[in-house]
Amino acid sequence: MKRILLEVFLVAALIGASVFGFMNQKQAAVSKAKITELTAAAEAAEKTVKEKEESLKAAEEEMSALQGEITPLEEKVNQLEAVKAALASGSTLSDLENAYKKEKNLSAERQTGLGALRMLTKGAEDPGALEAFRKALQLSELGDRKNTICAAQLGLVAAGEKIKVMADCLPKSEKAARGDKEEKDGHDKDHSHGKKEDGKGKAKDDGHGAKKDDKHAAPHWDYEGEMGPEKWGKEFPTCAKGKSQSPLDIKGPFVKSRMVVSADYKEGALKMINNGHTIQVNIPPGSKLRVDGIVHELLQFHFHKPSEEKIDGKPMAMVVHFVHKNADGKLAVLGVLLKEGNENPGIKTLWANLPKEENVEYVPEGVNFNPGNLLPREFDFYSYEGSLTTPPCTEGVRFFILKTTVNIAKEQVHAFPFKMNARPVQPLNGRELLSN
Ligand SMILES: [Zn+2]
Repeated sequence: MKRILLEVFLVAALIGASVFGFMNQKQAAVSKAKITELTAAAEAAEKTVKEKEESLKAAEEEMSALQGEITPLEEKVNQLEAVKAALASGSTLSDLENAYKKEKNLSAERQTGLGALRMLTKGAEDPGALEAFRKALQLSELGDRKNTICAAQLGLVAAGEKIKVMADCLPKSEKAARGDKEEKDGHDKDHSHGKKEDGKGKAKDDGHGAKKDDKHAAPHWDYEGEMGPEKWGKEFPTCAKGKSQSPLDIKGPFVKSRMVVSADYKEGALKMINNGHTIQVNIPPGSKLRVDGIVHELLQFHFHKPSEEKIDGKPMAMVVHFVHKNADGKLAVLGVLLKEGNENPGIKTLWANLPKEENVEYVPEGVNFNPGNLLPREFDFYSYEGSLTTPPCTEGVRFFILKTTVNIAKEQVHAFPFKMNARPVQPLNGRELLSN
């Protein structure tokens, strides 16, 4: 029973964090003032029935003027107040932390909830809150869970972190302002794109106008320069301290694997996103990888250039990482190495539909895609226990790297909109390298 109550708190806290984040947006200042006004009006209304009627009428008029935007927010503010009152002692947080201690891998939603609770209880500067939001963000990037991503991103912004917030998470007014701006600055953006291809790592942010830079600061990590892989550990300790990190240089001796692995991918609507680090294709439910009969749902696939994995010290032109998750939350990544050669028809379709804007999922009308088109016929593999190859470098990820490569044309490698997005190979640290 206690656990159920805690879960209810968690949901309320999650909503609270979103509102908290919203409140911190500059663009929301006007709406905030209006909510305060409305709240004051509502309070005054409680004094007498007569006053109440008048005030309510006035409030109603104002409400109808502001309509849909304010109503849900006001509800959330009330919920937030209730949550704040309940959290005053901090005992809810410690109860929840104790309840979760037994579970190794918390879901993104729970991480966000934990972060929100910490923030509400201990304040926005609490490092535990930031870590929980970051974990939530990383976990939720693997799926298609917009609400969790928004809550985590807004939570980080509320805590004063300079991160990019997805356009879909922004309040309507800011989104509209952003849209206007980008229409005007269209040529500017293309310019920045070209610069990035030329290899200046930071050029990515140059295309944003000065106004925009205030709101959407540089990403927390990169593949070169000040925020390159050797610096990831500063903010994401597992990247530096982990003992089972990916990628690996794959070379013998190998241990014989008897695992049976097969993919059953289905055609579905194409949904792509440029998340600032790679091109990712989000997959609707139904595509599966079976490992010894255990079903792992395909969540997304994405690309690295050159391939992160090396075979006998050599990288390939690129690699596709197919990211799956089973019912227990365990991640499995299937890697398909792309070798320079003939044109790849699957990639032709993908590259023809590349998103024009960062961090916004692009769904071209009437375009379907089957991820199976990127797989080779042969399914022999190397396998090892590894980690996410991007911060926070979370471990406990099973990798299967297929031995058979798939072709990609030189021009197609060149057309991939990132010059280099591969983490260097990591120490084996006595791990078993399997081969079937
Ligand atoms: Zn990857």
